[in-house]
Amino acid sequence: MPLDRLFDYLSNGQDAQIGQRVLVPFGRRSQIGIVIGLANESEFPLEKLKAVTQVFSDELPLDSATLSLLKFSADYYQYPYGQALLSALPARLRQIAPAVSRKQYRYVLTDAGRQIAVDQLPARQTVLRRVLLALQIQPALTESELDAISSSARKVAKQLVEDGWALCEQVAAIVKTLGMAQPAAPALNDEQALALTSIMQDSQQFQAWLLHGITGSGKTEVYMRLMQQVLDNDDAQVLVLVPEINLTPQLEARFRSRFANFPLVSLHSHLSEGERLHHWQLAQAGATKIVIGTRLSIFTPMPKLKLIIIDEEHDSSYKQQDSMRYHARDVALMRGKRLNIPVLLGSATPALETWHNAQTGKYRLLSLNQRAVLAAKLPQIDCIDTTKVHLQQGLSPQLIAALKLRLARKEQSLLFINRRGYSPVLLCSACHWIAPCLRCSSRLVVHLGQKKLRCHHCGHEQKIPPQCPSCGNADLHPTGHGTQRLEQSLAQMLPGARIARVDRDSVSRKEALLDILERVHNQEIDILVGTQMLAKGHDFPNLSLVGVIDTDSALHSPDFRASERLFAQLMQVAGRAGRASIAGQVMIQTQFPEHELFNALRRQDYVSYANALLQEREQVQFPPYVFMALLRAEANDFALVQKFLRGAFEQARGLSHEVLVYDPVRPQMERLKGMERAHMLMQADNRQALQRLLKQLLICLRAQPLSAKVRWSVDVNPLEF
Ligand code: ADP
Ligand code: ZN
Ligand code: ZN
Repeated sequence: MPLDRLFDYLSNGQDAQIGQRVLVPFGRRSQIGIVIGLANESEFPLEKLKAVTQVFSDELPLDSATLSLLKFSADYYQYPYGQALLSALPARLRQIAPAVSRKQYRYVLTDAGRQIAVDQLPARQTVLRRVLLALQIQPALTESELDAISSSARKVAKQLVEDGWALCEQVAAIVKTLGMAQPAAPALNDEQALALTSIMQDSQQFQAWLLHGITGSGKTEVYMRLMQQVLDNDDAQVLVLVPEINLTPQLEARFRSRFANFPLVSLHSHLSEGERLHHWQLAQAGATKIVIGTRLSIFTPMPKLKLIIIDEEHDSSYKQQDSMRYHARDVALMRGKRLNIPVLLGSATPALETWHNAQTGKYRLLSLNQRAVLAAKLPQIDCIDTTKVHLQQGLSPQLIAALKLRLARKEQSLLFINRRGYSPVLLCSACHWIAPCLRCSSRLVVHLGQKKLRCHHCGHEQKIPPQCPSCGNADLHPTGHGTQRLEQSLAQMLPGARIARVDRDSVSRKEALLDILERVHNQEIDILVGTQMLAKGHDFPNLSLVGVIDTDSALHSPDFRASERLFAQLMQVAGRAGRASIAGQVMIQTQFPEHELFNALRRQDYVSYANALLQEREQVQFPPYVFMALLRAEANDFALVQKFLRGAFEQARGLSHEVLVYDPVRPQMERLKGMERAHMLMQADNRQALQRLLKQLLICLRAQPLSAKVRWSVDVNPLEF
């Protein structure tokens, strides 16, 4: 736990404002700090105080709304304010070196450039073809992105500018995106129009709205119309949050082309530090009207913020899983409330917390019940009972036949399997030994291509042993299916099919994913095999079959959110099928085809499934009916963890009668990266009581000598246990 206190310094006549970045001496080093208050006195003797070394007075200070949002969040998530403040800044502003961003240039296509049919160009002009294709898919390419394509790509881009096919703009001056046609917005259907007018009628104050509609029902269209009206009416800024995996170049391009007249920046972790700083500063200065960003952008200062939109609000990537464990959706609601502006949440499968709030009237519910493009039909969803058929390499005859049919029709298929690698375990046929990770309580995954065993939790790697270390038997079997094995089996079963695999191993670089997506769009791929990376964000018009393999473990997981998550994931995967005019089909292989989850999924009936799950949660008193916080602890030595949590348990018990404090237990992953872990759950039906307890408990814990030997943290509203 970092220090939770503030430090006093003398300004020595330097003109420091609240929110300003300063350099201060700290111990033997210098550190960056933020001025959060000015005072004429200190509880420390003045002669003992050190003076501020430097005030970065040429930078805009953090505004009071941002400071107070961070203070509020730090309190809410029981995290030190100073630390919360610093981690909300772009990395460059946490460094002592000057924070100027180097001028960068980027290339965008002109209308003429967008019209070029790349496949008509001579095949030998590979670099030209690749640059043009990339520009037609992405909104813009920076110089470093060009370098990633080819060492001659910059030269090609300059030639494109000379020929009038592209424009070169300074990144520092993104005021308008040039050269893009502004596609006409479609006329809204009745449900969309109702959603828009309802929000607009109430747009001058805080209100949380839930826009519920399946993929393709036109939610994004509603967001864009709403943004348009807010931006037209007012000197306003709008913040749009999307999950990391959804912030694709296509999505950015869609917003950019619609809002060609409004400056727009994106904020996410794939930007370079310089770009991120620059975008952040444009937002802070009010110079950019639209920010599209991932979780981390929720704390971006936006002085004229008038609307916050959170797409896929149920997505778990909105939850920060280390340091300050905030949930960007919940912070967005706090921010909206403090600024008195509307907050719009959108999802096909809202989080149960959100759905509950919409049911009780705390949020106002707007529903889109059809796909927006009339020709686009809902996919047919079928379960295949794997206990009744003979699986060939993990695939049922029905699924194989469906794949063959798509190949014959020259349509594309996607197979979804949530396990990377070749197979999830290496098993000894004689003694049933299974290769374990020595640093985690997990099994090693077979990666046959590299002839390695790898732990997916800590990254540990080792050679595949020639024989069983336990009994000496040489007959070790990779057991079960992962993406690599599925790819290999498909290649054997369907010779001639063009297959691509998308998982963290195959697309560790951003360009690799872009490359595969490009090939899918060019119809150069028949079957995509991949993990949940594929479930979201991408739109493949010629894709008509989605196969889901092996999700049964989630049906019986001890995690009480597992079925909620699985349902959301499968709805999303199903949304990949048949988005354009081709009817889609979804086939799910399972041993439990009659499970309530699949019944609801077949009807695409989120509402009744969500209501059923909520009823269960109420009966067993789980969130959203109670509030939870988790005290996590880990150390090399389990005895220390135990002692620390025992102490915490006794203290917590003594502090409150309203909070239920559970005995410390070990999580599913008892050991992770060589650390022994345990946690203690606290639960209350009154949030204030829980917050009070946490505050007091933290003071006690910080004072404990053991707290320095154990790594511990508090997680308010935990999503993972
Ligand atoms: P969602 O965000 O719910 O997945 P989108 O807003 O992306 O849905 O809409 C899906 C598709 O339907 C897009 O291609 C979009 O341009 C189109 N669309 C949305 N609303 C309409 C409408 N009212 N009329 C015609 N097409 C629409
Ligand atoms: Zn053995
Ligand atoms: Zn491990």
